[in-house]
Amino acid sequence: PTATPTTTPPATAGDNRPPSHLFYQARQRRPMATRAEGIYIWDEHGRRVIDGSSGAMVVNIGHGNRRVLDAMKRQMDQATFIYRLHFENAPAEDLAAALAARCPAGLDRVFFVSGGSEAVESCLKLARQHAVATGQGSRYKVISRFPSYHGSTMGALSVTGHAAFTTPFAPMMHESPKIAAPTAYLDRDGLDMAARGRRYADMLDEEIRRQGPETVLAFIMEPIGGASTGALVAPDSYYPRIREICDRHGVLLIHDEVMCGAGRTGRYLGGDHWGITPDLIALSKGLGAGYAPLGAMIASEKLVRPVLDAGGFQHGFTYAGNPLAAAAGLAVLDEIDAHDLIGNAARMGDLLKSRLDALKRRFPFIGDVRGRGLLLAVEFVSDPETMATLPRALNAHARMVDLAFDRGLILYSRRTRGGIDGDHVLVCPPMIVTEAQIDEIMAIFTDTLEALARELSL
Ligand code: PLP
Repeated sequence: PTATPTTTPPATAGDNRPPSHLFYQARQRRPMATRAEGIYIWDEHGRRVIDGSSGAMVVNIGHGNRRVLDAMKRQMDQATFIYRLHFENAPAEDLAAALAARCPAGLDRVFFVSGGSEAVESCLKLARQHAVATGQGSRYKVISRFPSYHGSTMGALSVTGHAAFTTPFAPMMHESPKIAAPTAYLDRDGLDMAARGRRYADMLDEEIRRQGPETVLAFIMEPIGGASTGALVAPDSYYPRIREICDRHGVLLIHDEVMCGAGRTGRYLGGDHWGITPDLIALSKGLGAGYAPLGAMIASEKLVRPVLDAGGFQHGFTYAGNPLAAAAGLAVLDEIDAHDLIGNAARMGDLLKSRLDALKRRFPFIGDVRGRGLLLAVEFVSDPETMATLPRALNAHARMVDLAFDRGLILYSRRTRGGIDGDHVLVCPPMIVTEAQIDEIMAIFTDTLEALARELSL
């Protein structure tokens, strides 16, 4: 979820450091980062790397932002931690109001957490408590999509559609029913995109009926896919149809906006591209933008009120709504507005996507370029006509990441698509990226594709 496994040590990895007590993944040591500013990170040897994935699609406003750092320093001088059961704090109140103003009408009750998994977990638990509080206790199943990633806590994992993450824990989980992610770009069925979009949405209707509508609590999806599907965008017809199916069966619609939310796609929320109002929103990553661990669940008063009236939401995290994280989140929103970074993400995203698209002519192993704004992915295939995947043993996505890192560009990658293995890399620089920096990214990306083609004989 947070890093791509690599197969070879990057050129700058130090090997005469003492053994690390940290363990994240069984992989090679990485260079030590010493400084980060704008879209760049420097390592201990003074080498500069472009953060072409904004960390894990987190650092949306770039590194070292003065406005945010100053706001955090001011808040640190006042109070870093205030417990919500003892006092209210202004940054949390103000950030909740600012988020309510950015969300679709009616979604104006905010519950803060410290990350994406916690935000998803909160949505699942509020949905369930609402069902219990409103006499719908038979509803407990949450349908999700395959493939998908919704987080690493047990509840979020139970709705995640990715065997590598879920298999070891299967006996401990109540695994949710899954429907196919809307990988319409892979279909060779002669249907137009609108028909395909409806067909994928109708899979939800069928699954709700199969499970028994009275047992189904919610459906969770990313409006624009993140790492698991590689910036997958469904046909336009998919979105309203999903909303309508949920309404018809009394099933709550949860939008996981953890990766696509907070402005990266050229709208504040991914769902805003289709004007969809979900029942619950999970937000994180770009909300704190790497300055503080921060996430939020956003819901309507209609959903929250019965839960509060029945004795309160039985859920919460110690660090939730702490004033330091909230002050960072507020300053991030101010920075986004002051520099129209959402507009910039839309404009630079269009430019970057068209430049990536143009590479298809030169590199026939590029099967698809997709996404919105600066949430973009490039998929590698062995044949762009059939979209057949590359052999798994080539490990093309991980090699692309390693070769790009050696050349000074960070990318993010996964080997998943539509339930079948497939290679994609995500290109997601911070929303402050300029046209000249897109040139810089493209020069390294193109050079890396050449190296990949040579190495893997593509
Ligand atoms: N949901 C989505 C769509 C994500 O991409 C992620 C993380 O990558 C999460 C949830 C989990 O967020 P976190 O790693 O902050 O717990």
